[in-house]
Amino acid sequence: MKPGLQPAYLAIALLATLLPACSAAGSDEGSPGVALVIHGGAGTITREIMTPDLERQYRDKLSEALATGHAILREGGSALDAVEATVRLLEDSPLFNAGKGAVFSAEGKNELDASIMDGSTLAAGAVAGVTRIKNPITAARAVMERTPHVLLAGSGAEAFAAAEGLEIVDPSYFFTERRWKALLQAREREAPPGADLEPLPDGGGSGSGQGGRGGPGGLGTVGAVALDREGRIAAATSTGGLTNKKHGRIGDSPIVGAGTYAEAGCGVSGTGKGEFFIRYAVAYDICARMRYQGLPIREAAERVIGILKDAGGAAGVIALDGQGRPALVFNTEGMYRGWILADGVPQVAIYGDD
Ligand code: ASP
Repeated sequence: MKPGLQPAYLAIALLATLLPACSAAGSDEGSPGVALVIHGGAGTITREIMTPDLERQYRDKLSEALATGHAILREGGSALDAVEATVRLLEDSPLFNAGKGAVFSAEGKNELDASIMDGSTLAAGAVAGVTRIKNPITAARAVMERTPHVLLAGSGAEAFAAAEGLEIVDPSYFFTERRWKALLQAREREAPPGADLEPLPDGGGSGSGQGGRGGPGGLGTVGAVALDREGRIAAATSTGGLTNKKHGRIGDSPIVGAGTYAEAGCGVSGTGKGEFFIRYAVAYDICARMRYQGLPIREAAERVIGILKDAGGAAGVIALDGQGRPALVFNTEGMYRGWILADGVPQVAIYGDD
């Protein structure tokens, strides 16, 4: 077995949401229409681990996020504003592994990563390993717009965010019982046999939170890609990373070209095992295949996600091209996702056969 290849993934056929390739042309002015695609994480998301109530909560929150971002685009707002607002809303929900619902590291802390990119200028900003910034995506945008840098990490990023007047919270804000329970389970599962587990700080949770039937506990990185009326594409991604990750581990979500990328005619946000996204430069590779090989966006995304599947990397991406054609592709059982294309009809899906 290849390193990192988990048996579950061997059996999983490549599942791709093959949306009808649709041209978004057709607005009154004859300019490209607007489009928005979002994700809330990919992984072992099946009907068996979901309760009807939890499924309804996910579908409602995804719909709300789509409506929020789409309203901005419809009113002539920028793709950048749309993806930031969409991701902020998902960060504020405990359902997703970003912001309020972030997973815990091995030390029982929430360490958050986020990035944003404007495809029309290649401007990009990111924060990594932050523990006190309520909305990391807004901090990422501030890095992009108010510093000469692309990525700020840890206490430096937090000091910058505070100086910019962004909302700073006590780390306890990010505590949720559901994620705490997921950490306790991951520690048991991933510990070498007979190992003494390091004590954790008091999490304060009873371990009986939402998703108590197991639930999709470690999933839920969020992302958005938008095309605005001016034809600009922006992409944004925010995450708490992986449950039980090492203190200081940084994933793909704040790495431009790995978890997030946007350029003229292509934008991508990813979710899955970040180490694979970094090694395979996933988001950039999808856009590069369009540019160099002339592939349609869906085919470019399917090829790259197929390569990750062969390598053992659980992965999903959402993407848009300059005409508003979407790709929502994943090699896992499910991916929380939604889209609004030229027809303006919001669509939300969770499972592979949705
Ligand atoms: N890509 C994220 C990371 O590795 C996790 C995820 O998307 O589930 O940090």
